[in-house]
Amino acid sequence: MSQLTEHPIQRQIIGLALSILAIVVVLVAIHSGFRSKANQIGSQLDNQKARQEIGLSIYQRLFSAKASVFKLSTLDNRLELEIVKKRFDDNLLIIKEGLAILHNGGVFKDQIATNIPGQNSMNLVANYYLPESEGYVLEVLELGPAIHNLDEQAQLLYQLIKSRIELFPNEPADLQVRIHNLIKTINTVLQRTQENAARVLYDSQEKTSQLSIEYKESENLYDSFRLPVVVIALGLSAYLLLVTLTRVGKVIENRKQAEDQLQLLLDTTVEGIFGVDEQGTTTFVNPSASRMLGYSPEELINRSNHQLIHHTRSDGSHYPASECCMLEVLEGGTVHTVDNELFWRKDGTSFPVEYSSNPIYRKGKIVGAVVNFRDISERKQAEKRIRTLLQAIEQSPVSVVMTDTNGDIEYVNRAFEITSGYKANEVLGKNPRILKSDNTPEEHFKELWQAILSGQSWRGELQNRKKNGDLFWERAYIAPVVDETGSTTHYLAVKEDISLQKQQEKKILHQANYDSLTNLPNRFLTLDRLSQIIKEAQRNQHMAAVLFLDLDDFKKVNDSMSHEAGDKLLIQAAKRLKESVRIDDTVSRLGGDEFIILLGSLHTEKEVLPIAEKILNCFKPPFVLDGRELILTASIGISIYPSDGDNPAELLRNADTAMYQSKEQGRNTFNFFTHEMNKGISRRLQVEEQLHGALERNEFQLYYQPILDIAKREIIGTESLLRWHNPILGEVRPDEFIPITEQTGQIIPLGQFVIEQALCTTAQWQNQFSKPFRVAINISPRQFRDPNLIKQIKAALAQCSIPSSSVVLEITEGVLLSGHTYIDDALSELNNLGVTITMDDFGTGYSSLSYLRRYPFGNLKIDRSFINDITIDPADRELVNATIAMAHGLGITVVAEGVETEEQLNYLKQQGCEMAQGYLFSKPIPAVEMKHLLQNKQKLTTA
Ligand code: C2E
Ligand code: MG
Ligand code: MG
Repeated sequence: MSQLTEHPIQRQIIGLALSILAIVVVLVAIHSGFRSKANQIGSQLDNQKARQEIGLSIYQRLFSAKASVFKLSTLDNRLELEIVKKRFDDNLLIIKEGLAILHNGGVFKDQIATNIPGQNSMNLVANYYLPESEGYVLEVLELGPAIHNLDEQAQLLYQLIKSRIELFPNEPADLQVRIHNLIKTINTVLQRTQENAARVLYDSQEKTSQLSIEYKESENLYDSFRLPVVVIALGLSAYLLLVTLTRVGKVIENRKQAEDQLQLLLDTTVEGIFGVDEQGTTTFVNPSASRMLGYSPEELINRSNHQLIHHTRSDGSHYPASECCMLEVLEGGTVHTVDNELFWRKDGTSFPVEYSSNPIYRKGKIVGAVVNFRDISERKQAEKRIRTLLQAIEQSPVSVVMTDTNGDIEYVNRAFEITSGYKANEVLGKNPRILKSDNTPEEHFKELWQAILSGQSWRGELQNRKKNGDLFWERAYIAPVVDETGSTTHYLAVKEDISLQKQQEKKILHQANYDSLTNLPNRFLTLDRLSQIIKEAQRNQHMAAVLFLDLDDFKKVNDSMSHEAGDKLLIQAAKRLKESVRIDDTVSRLGGDEFIILLGSLHTEKEVLPIAEKILNCFKPPFVLDGRELILTASIGISIYPSDGDNPAELLRNADTAMYQSKEQGRNTFNFFTHEMNKGISRRLQVEEQLHGALERNEFQLYYQPILDIAKREIIGTESLLRWHNPILGEVRPDEFIPITEQTGQIIPLGQFVIEQALCTTAQWQNQFSKPFRVAINISPRQFRDPNLIKQIKAALAQCSIPSSSVVLEITEGVLLSGHTYIDDALSELNNLGVTITMDDFGTGYSSLSYLRRYPFGNLKIDRSFINDITIDPADRELVNATIAMAHGLGITVVAEGVETEEQLNYLKQQGCEMAQGYLFSKPIPAVEMKHLLQNKQKLTTA
């Protein structure tokens, strides 16, 4: 951070220095430009001066040469000649030197005579620089040849004068002339050369004075320029300094502001921030950090950070500072973000943190670290919550599927995998339509998409296909998942496999509509179908028929064999019935041995006839049950829509009535319903109706019929027989109402009433007449199915204080034929109790000898239908004889029932029959009358 703010200041200063330097350099360059101009002019001036001096010297030397030439003309002395010649040569030499200097540059030195008073000679020293563009070479070239020529002529003159001297006085005249001419020529050349020299001199004087002026000006310019340069340089520098200072000020201000902001940030940020030095000692801490850690800043600063707040790992183990992730940056400078560690508060509690540790550099070296951290307790809890939720979803028994808004699967749970058979990786990225079975109507899907696209949820049932191709039912809840802005991010489907439920529903539906035994439609479905058939017939102006079928004597099969056998028979009968009608006709079971056949689309009643006959015929072949052959017939009643009724209930009722007619006509036949039949059927309905509550209304009364010892003609007991006096129906015979009470279950309370009444009344007679009168009570098969029967008998025995030996229970073969073990148990228990058991109505049923052997019968009662005819029908006589003999053979006492004549009695007596009852002695009579009878004539002759 400090590096960042220092840098601009340095840069500003460096910039300033460079700018000033540049200004100075530029100004110095301009300044020195002026200087060199002056120097150039100065050196030109020097050259001109040197040229002038050289020119002056040449001019002087030529003047002196001219004098020497004149002198030569007069000479006659050889020595003098030599001297003058030398002087002349010297002068020429100096002139030559001067010209060479002017030509090549160099230093020219000469000493020339002057006319200045007191100074005969002066020294000339001229530094002549090689001229480059001044054009003096031309002048020199012009002077040079003249001097050379002069030199040659002077040599010639010397020779001529030398000859004249030697020839003196005989010198030839032409020699003199030649000398004279030569001198003149030389003189002319000298004169011209001297003029040239003078011109050079003059010219150089001109140039010198001009250059002097230029030089002066240049010098002046140079001098006058120096001040402004300095001023400009200073001005610019001052300006730059000002700019730089302003900028530096701004930088400092910015830095201050940044520092203030940083401080504010540190103070107000919710993140905890602290710094550590190279040793891990806390150097600073912000308020949030101090608050979160529960330490004041003073308690944290200058303390070892790790030891104080970071000493223990989240698993509770010691956390050595050497392994501290936070301090690792001090070593290697790696920046860490850690979110699985704890910070410890002053109060000893800890909290999960996420921190990052960043190194602090100073001059490229790590001098500490800044750590910022936040308390992530909430996040960790949220993560835990999310994890728990995820686990819950994962372990949920219902399928969960999440898709993106394109419908591509992003998540499925375990239940989905189990239900569908697809592994998660097989469906991720795919569309849930892979499960589609094509059995779900398209409208379902339209409805679904309409709902979820409009932000609603959808519930419904879908039939889908598993990976292995099996179909299954799902109850689905599908809804859009929205984010905090309300826009849909995903779709969620929660689905429950309801295949089992569907199966059960189907089963329940089947059970509700079908008979479980025969699998034929039951009453409910039959009525439903019948109403359909009626509607159809109405629409098409057709007729329909209801055939009510009841199996004849089925009860006997049930009673004599077993319920299981009865069930098997019903199944076979159902099968035959189905086979004897058209496939569209309905065969159903109403319950028990009652079946219904519905025939639709009939044009005339006559069409029913062949079907009814066919049905009766289908029963003709014997049924085979447990290896035994059995003949079964059926009685049928037929009602026709619309003549016999226009609703199902009426048609059924009338078919039932017609069926009763068939029963009455001797069974195994059919009858069409006629309105006259209704009168008969109403009787049964009335009986059923009136039986309801009859016991409570005390409409039942127990009658007693005496039983006599034939040998002694003495009353030894009675048979209790039930009578029903109903205010509406009048006297109803037990043969009529007993079977109905058996069907309705009313026989149970009624039977109890009989037992109690019979026992108590007999006990009274015993007491009154001090005779061990016995009482026979009829017990129906249905009563034996009641587990309380024995208890009730015991209770009645105790209640009426009558010995069990006085009690005779009459049962029919039907009780035994069912073969249930509880009957065996009950009979042996009753026998153990001392109660006598009588086989009633012997001869009407199977008259099985094995039963007589197997069960503890004390008495056997021959049915009155045999007694009736013993005196006239030899067959009956035979049977009675055999029965008596057989019973005696088994040690069983025989009772004859329905003895009406003395003849019959005598015959029975002859055959050894021990007891008898019948109208011969008395009809069944009320208890009061019986009491009188016992009182008055215990010995009965005739009734
Ligand atoms: P059951 O046990 O065989 O009773 C004998 C039936 O024969 C009685 O008819 C009786 O009145 C009748 N009877 C007796 N002697 C003569 C006679 O000389 N000539 C003629 N023609 N009939 C004679 P009832 O009282 O009408 O009873 C009919 C059946 O009703 C009984 O046959 C019995 O099976 C049943 N029953 C009557 N009372 C009860 C009862 O309290 N409980 C049960 N479970 N069944 C009863
Ligand atoms: Mg009886
Ligand atoms: Mg009987």
